[in-house]
Amino acid sequence: MKQLILEMESYAAEHNVPIIEKDSIAFIMKFIKAHNIKNILEIGSAIGYSTILMASVAPDVTVTTIERDEVRYMECLKNVKKCNFEQKINVVFQDALEVNLSNVSYDMIFIDAAKAQNTKFFEKFKYFLKPNGVIITDNLKFHGYTGKADEIESKNLRSLVSKIEEYIEFLKENKEFDTNFYDVGDGLSVSVKKDEKK
Ligand code: SAM
Repeated sequence: MKQLILEMESYAAEHNVPIIEKDSIAFIMKFIKAHNIKNILEIGSAIGYSTILMASVAPDVTVTTIERDEVRYMECLKNVKKCNFEQKINVVFQDALEVNLSNVSYDMIFIDAAKAQNTKFFEKFKYFLKPNGVIITDNLKFHGYTGKADEIESKNLRSLVSKIEEYIEFLKENKEFDTNFYDVGDGLSVSVKKDEKK
């Protein structure tokens, strides 16, 4: 397992695949353990690095992960097989915004895909959370650009960073969830679904 994780880190560096920072995945793994999280939905598998680490927290943790890039999806499948996690990890090859889910609910949703689409992912998948379920989102600092959109010259980057800034506002104002922001790795948010009965 350790060897596979090292191989995945090398593969990601060699092939320019963005994977989660070590501090961030350590934070998430601790969170999964502390909150007894058992089933997870991940948006954005890449090669399955965060997927496999999350699934490794306990024997009964399962992960469904969605990836739209075929090469990465195939690589993810290969890695899931290598660590014998086929029973714990379900890899879905599709655009997350087109996936149809029914009769499922998750303890935790990890959003780590196209950063400009965070709000869309949040709004689509929040219905598949259990009561008091949690949505974690990565890269809210976006390599230090967040909060500085006005100063960015590149139009594409400015637009992307503005969307992340809007997402942060959306989370702060969201009445259905309580969100805490953590200065870990590239910036994480943890949004806890409020109890409707209260
Ligand atoms: N979670 C992975 C990890 O830490 O090991 C890294 C994921 S990487 C930051 C983001 C991935 O999301 C990319 O592989 C990209 O192809 C995928 N992605 C982006 N938008 C997507 C969408 N709408 N549906 C499915 N996958 C998407």
